[in-house]
Amino acid sequence: MGNPLKIVIVGCSGRMGHALLESVFADAELVLHSAVDRSENPHLGRDAGELHGKVSGVKVTADIDEALKGADVLVDFTRPEASMLYLEACQKANVKMVIGTTGFSAQQKQAIEIAAKNISIVFAPNMSVGVTLLINLVQSAAKVLNEGYDIEIIEAHHRHKIDAPSGTALRLGEAAASALGRNLEDCAIYGREGVTGERDTSTIGFATVRGGDVVGDHTVLFAGIGERVELTHKASNRATFAIGALRAAKFLSNKKTGLYDMQDVLGLR
Ligand code: NAD
Repeated sequence: MGNPLKIVIVGCSGRMGHALLESVFADAELVLHSAVDRSENPHLGRDAGELHGKVSGVKVTADIDEALKGADVLVDFTRPEASMLYLEACQKANVKMVIGTTGFSAQQKQAIEIAAKNISIVFAPNMSVGVTLLINLVQSAAKVLNEGYDIEIIEAHHRHKIDAPSGTALRLGEAAASALGRNLEDCAIYGREGVTGERDTSTIGFATVRGGDVVGDHTVLFAGIGERVELTHKASNRATFAIGALRAAKFLSNKKTGLYDMQDVLGLR
């Protein structure tokens, strides 16, 4: 085994930050290089392992440039505006990136594509193996159920989630749309209210549920005459996303530049 990969976790005191720290501590091929959060964060200056009953020797910092010195891969599960700052810093420091944050605008996504000319990046709204497989299953199903089936995507998440529909739901919508030769932007219906008229079968509908501590449920429904096909994934623990994100970090270790997703990481392309 070579030297462990030096990982920087940003948003380290968030829900995903905690799951990532746990997974890094449990993986001998990885070492926590730095733990970063924003300057208002109450954990600044404390040991990153504290909440996990560990002394990691790494103190939580807001100084991203210092945190990136000598690092291999930054793992980002924060907010789009924070991710954009980390994207800049990683390009300057020549550090690779795994971006799991969701809710980016088209312009922000373009900035990620441009940055991938300088550094290598895995960018995916869902890092779980199950959802990565689900994307492929949805593509296959859409190709077979290509006429006379209405496609609806239903997702549920915990009450703290701030963007809707989820990045995963949108990715599933894109997978179905592209398999049918459609553009999601032209055919998506985000929620319905009032007298909506009959359903146009060329549209892809989205429904969002928010509540409690749901980690993440997604169903893609193909509703035809006399039958329905439902493809469902349910995440019960954030560890699944953390393990996937760290697998993505390892995948990047021999990639200098380029934009990849979990399909690439799992060799499903
Ligand atoms: P959270 O609110 O629990 O944590 C967010 C973290 O980011 C916190 O530590 C917070 O201090 C930090 N942060 C927020 N704004 C910041 C800013 N402006 N500058 C610097 N740091 C900032 O959220 P979470 O549940 O951990 O989710 C984080 C993101 O990851 C969301 O976009 C969520 O949708 C996404 N997510 C993706 C996957 C995936 O598999 N790709 C899985 C779960 C969550």
